Amino acid sequence: MNDKKIYVTEPSLPPLKEFIPYLEQIWESKWLTNNGPFHQKFEKALCDYLGVKHISVFANGTLALVTALQALKITGEVITTPFSFVATTHALNWNGIKPVFCDIEPETMNLDSEKIESHITPQTTAILPVHVYGNPCNMGKIEKIADIYGLRVIYDAAHAFGVKKNGKTILNHGDLSILSFHATKVFNTFEGGAIISKNEKMKKRIDFLKNFGFAGEVTVVGPGINAKMNEFQAALGLLQLKHINKEIAGRKKIADYYRKELNNINGITVLPEIEGVKHNYSYFPILVNKEEYRNSRDELYNIFKEKNIYVRKYFYPLISEFPTYRGMESAHSDNLPVAFRVSQQILCLPIYPGLESNDLNKIVKIIKEYQ
Ligand SMILES: *Cc1c(COP(=O)(O)O)cnc(C)c1O
Repeated sequence: MNDKKIYVTEPSLPPLKEFIPYLEQIWESKWLTNNGPFHQKFEKALCDYLGVKHISVFANGTLALVTALQALKITGEVITTPFSFVATTHALNWNGIKPVFCDIEPETMNLDSEKIESHITPQTTAILPVHVYGNPCNMGKIEKIADIYGLRVIYDAAHAFGVKKNGKTILNHGDLSILSFHATKVFNTFEGGAIISKNEKMKKRIDFLKNFGFAGEVTVVGPGINAKMNEFQAALGLLQLKHINKEIAGRKKIADYYRKELNNINGITVLPEIEGVKHNYSYFPILVNKEEYRNSRDELYNIFKEKNIYVRKYFYPLISEFPTYRGMESAHSDNLPVAFRVSQQILCLPIYPGLESNDLNKIVKIIKEYQ
């Protein structure tokens, strides 16, 4: 009997014995959190690896998002995408900001820059796009709109660790970008996150906010929160950075194989590779079109599940369909036709370096067999 389960991802972990010396240092110094030596080293190493100047690491990506909105004093309405992980919109909600959902592009599944302007009102203060699956948004157009209307841009770059466009990191775009180092992401510190700032002043402000607003022993400069990354997470991150290139290369092999095998199946669409983009292969999404493929997305999902392969419907339902948001005017399906269609057809396939070739073959075979 084969009861081995295959999940959409497997967290990447360094060899345990490599981590022991880091732990010994923490135990010896007894500096466990609050900008300790590993925290400082990790921020520097991240700047070098990512090609950014100012980064603040966080306990997780959601707190980074919530704090980024605080740091820029965003209020009123923010235009965002319904096709993301729910934390994107929740971060607005936790700041008392009204999310305004805008439809997505069918090619990249990112916020459709052509449709942003129609959602701008006198209350709009910012745009919160997501680089979905690590595919860069149309940043040029988004930032042009932001400049004309005097809006801030905060990118949810939770999927975009290490992604480059024309040789440059995409994380320096907009006012701020946010990363997540959650266990399921390409780069993980179990839990973790970061904000990339454009200047030292902003980084400083963010560093105050993630530590209750403390700017000195007895000075509190704002309504901060506790969103600090601890030394255990930072040490792990420092070690993980040594393995990240290998991790991404391993994922690329899987992605290349899927791309080669799945490019000619009726009703199965593989997202096109974007020219000039150095990808991180964080996800491998396909679209299943029931009109052309014999089975619907949900049927294919169930076929996989029966065979112990747990593919994921990222992102279904849309954020705008959850009870908290579905009553909003912008959540209506008439406003979001592409997002609704894509969320009915999307399926993310397993992708991680340790995915064995016989399992990979099995996944491809299933998709071919049920066409
Ligand atoms: C994972 C994720 C987050 C949240 O990050 P956490 O580190 O899990 O809090 C936010 N946005 C997107 C798009 C994500 O995928």
